[in-house]
Amino acid sequence: MADLNKEFDLVVIGSGPGGYWAAIRAGEYGLSTLCIEKDPKLGGTCLHVGCIPTKALLHNADVMDTFRNAKELGVDVGAFSLNWAQVQARKDKIVSKHAKGIEFLYRKNKVEWLQGQATWAGPGRLEVATSQGRQTVRAKNIIIATGSAARMLPGLTPDDRILTNIEILKLDALPKRLVIIGAGAVGVEFASIFKRFGTEVTMLEALPRLVPIEDEEISKELEKAFRKQKIEIQTGAKVEKVERTAAGVKVNYTTADGKPQVAEADKVLVAVGRRPVTEGMNLEKTRIQTERGFIKTDAFMRTGEPNVYAIGDVVFGTPQLAHVASMEGMVAVAHIAGRPVDPIDYLKIPNVTFCEPQVASVGLTERAARDRGLRYKVGKFPFVGNSKATILGSHEGFIKMLADQDDGTVLGVHMIGPMVTELISEAVLGMQLNVAADELMETVHAHPTLYEAVLDAANSVYGLTINA
Ligand code: NAD
Repeated sequence: MADLNKEFDLVVIGSGPGGYWAAIRAGEYGLSTLCIEKDPKLGGTCLHVGCIPTKALLHNADVMDTFRNAKELGVDVGAFSLNWAQVQARKDKIVSKHAKGIEFLYRKNKVEWLQGQATWAGPGRLEVATSQGRQTVRAKNIIIATGSAARMLPGLTPDDRILTNIEILKLDALPKRLVIIGAGAVGVEFASIFKRFGTEVTMLEALPRLVPIEDEEISKELEKAFRKQKIEIQTGAKVEKVERTAAGVKVNYTTADGKPQVAEADKVLVAVGRRPVTEGMNLEKTRIQTERGFIKTDAFMRTGEPNVYAIGDVVFGTPQLAHVASMEGMVAVAHIAGRPVDPIDYLKIPNVTFCEPQVASVGLTERAARDRGLRYKVGKFPFVGNSKATILGSHEGFIKMLADQDDGTVLGVHMIGPMVTELISEAVLGMQLNVAADELMETVHAHPTLYEAVLDAANSVYGLTINA
């Protein structure tokens, strides 16, 4: 049990990738630190019902693909099937190993933690509802890292058939048919998992394309690949009603051209974005400003209440990504500790979506560059020209690079294809260092590797592609 008699240098509310990184860094800086977490285990959404379990399942789906294609590789695997119980057990083991890992890192860095629900009790004071009753905690600084929860469609509540990211990870059997509402990262990743596990998947997306935050050419390529995999896609769909039936669920929707349609399935996944978790915290009694529940901060993550910071999904106007939350935590803690720190450049944040084919990007899309009135040139290189992609039998997709017309500075890189969630880091580092495409052209890339495709994309910015 944490010693609550002292005033902590820092109290972090929430132990997701924002909160636990912040708490550990504060420990490293020698600040007396307490983390308050409402759940019995550390790690938050990302570890328990987000990034980690979904990527574990995506790995299972990739292995299924490898087995499906084994014959072509000259490997005779005979009959194979998915052992759902074992898939679930492995996923749960990965999650609990990492939750224990955070507890270990807390001990190592002298971070104390308390299970309970924190509410504001006045400047520098929080009240925490714990299993042993209400406790008061005093803090010189507070970081709110309470994260987000799945947004539901009006009138719906999650149950055993109407699912969010939480319920879908606990299914005791594979659904035969699944309707997914929303084709952002959550929607396309679950489509990619369940389709490859053998479920019939229908996606209903309100906007005209899948992964709408990505460059339009990427959305088009993903739609082509998904259709080839026999994932049913309705873009421009307006969901009218979701109801339970005797056997499952029924979704009434209108197609882009105005036709009423019905999709029936065993389960429906609602993946239409996430809302901030701030209710019940008494934030209205503070000087913190909010917008639709999201907390407004400055570039150092300070809220309107002195010595109170906010990081991660709960923050207004920054991307809801684990790696953004972690880096916002680094900025906030450095600021609290009086260490030199620069604000985050949100243009240099990687987006990585682990569907098959994978999608990854950093910087401006072509539309965003146009909207900003920038003069740019575009290079594009298809993986079909990359020898490692041939070796892997994974030829779908391309890398598209946008560079400043005059000095070649890389403005954005958009990828779809094999292992691009890893390849994007070269582009992220390049952009962080304000690299120009011609400097990437002069950088020796090992052969034969997938990341040679980045070199080829940089070459193609200047019309000089060798391999396509
Ligand atoms: P999202 O906002 O990224 O996508 C939601 C999608 O649902 C959008 O395309 C939107 O147009 C659509 N939509 C909204 N209302 C709809 C309706 N009524 N009918 C049909 N479609 C509708 O949200 P998400 O996919 O739930 O993800 C939440 C957050 O978590 C995002 O910020 C996402 O980037 C992040 N996330 C990231 C990863 C990753 O990095 N790999 C994985 C999962 C989630």
